[in-house]
Amino acid sequence: MISEFDIIRRYFSRPAPSAVLGVGDDCALVRVPAGMELAVTADMLVAGRHFSPNDGPGTLGHKALAVNLSDLAAMGARPRWALLAIALPEADERWLSGFAGGFYGLAGKSGVDLIGGDTTRGPVITISVTLIGEIPEDRAIRRSGASPGDEIWVSGQIGSAAAALAYRQGTLELEHPEAAAVLPALVVPQPRVELGQALRDVASAAIDISDGLLADLGHILDASGVGARLEFERLPLAEPVARRKVEALVQQCVLAGGDDYELCFTAPADRHDAVLVAGARAGVRVTHIGEITAQPGLDVVGGDGQLMKTAHRGFDHFA
Ligand code: ADP
Ligand code: MG
Repeated sequence: MISEFDIIRRYFSRPAPSAVLGVGDDCALVRVPAGMELAVTADMLVAGRHFSPNDGPGTLGHKALAVNLSDLAAMGARPRWALLAIALPEADERWLSGFAGGFYGLAGKSGVDLIGGDTTRGPVITISVTLIGEIPEDRAIRRSGASPGDEIWVSGQIGSAAAALAYRQGTLELEHPEAAAVLPALVVPQPRVELGQALRDVASAAIDISDGLLADLGHILDASGVGARLEFERLPLAEPVARRKVEALVQQCVLAGGDDYELCFTAPADRHDAVLVAGARAGVRVTHIGEITAQPGLDVVGGDGQLMKTAHRGFDHFA
């Protein structure tokens, strides 16, 4: 049986050129450039809770890093260093090799070096990634910066991940090409890292969508002390959701569920063109979906001009 130290040496000790000291000592060492702040975030994936035992290890390695990259993106930070804490019921080398491949694959593309972590035995596969990014002092995009009159935007499409999950759980039937189009959003999400950085001097507030559009926009509204009015017809819905227009599905997929890892952000109306430029620079579609209001509350206006009844709450692990 492979030892803990062999696991670390074989699978998690690739060179980390951006660190002063990487894996192997009691701590890693990094040098913070003058004038920079560190943006630090952690996210945990638990087997049976956040992924199914059938998920391939490579896609899990990707997703464990992707969900953290998405948090850095939402602040406008540049990703730099990762720590990986992992608990495994057994040291399965095929699994470890696949997982490390997925993790390092996305890390390489994102400019991230793995500089340390922890490896232990545990009852179910549990993966916690801590990600450190950098951002020039006082330039981070916070949830609290939205003002009345700001436009509300969303990147990419929404509803893909939730549609994929519903398909997997058997509550939504999809033809093969449709399923193939939405499954990547669930299994190998692409965090909007370039867009986040391009929005640094443009967006007034931002959040990544991990619990559903309304729930996550709600966090911006709470932090900023404002309200919002969304226009349903403007939402860039994923194809299978848009074509079906099933009320329950829309509720479930678009408004109150789904970890799409797109960015929802606000920007002053006179920065409309700057937002489009930022989207073009990052190669990501950005869509204006509504306005921030002085009056608290979150209204969704349907195509008929009537207020829609919506379930505002996103996913809550303890609800
Ligand atoms: P310590 O007991 O001093 O915390 P460990 O024996 O847990 O050290 O880890 C040895 C080295 O390997 C440390 O540098 C640690 O950061 C690193 N490490 C442990 N597990 C991982 C992992 N899963 N991924 C990356 N680095 C790891
Ligand atoms: Mg030690």
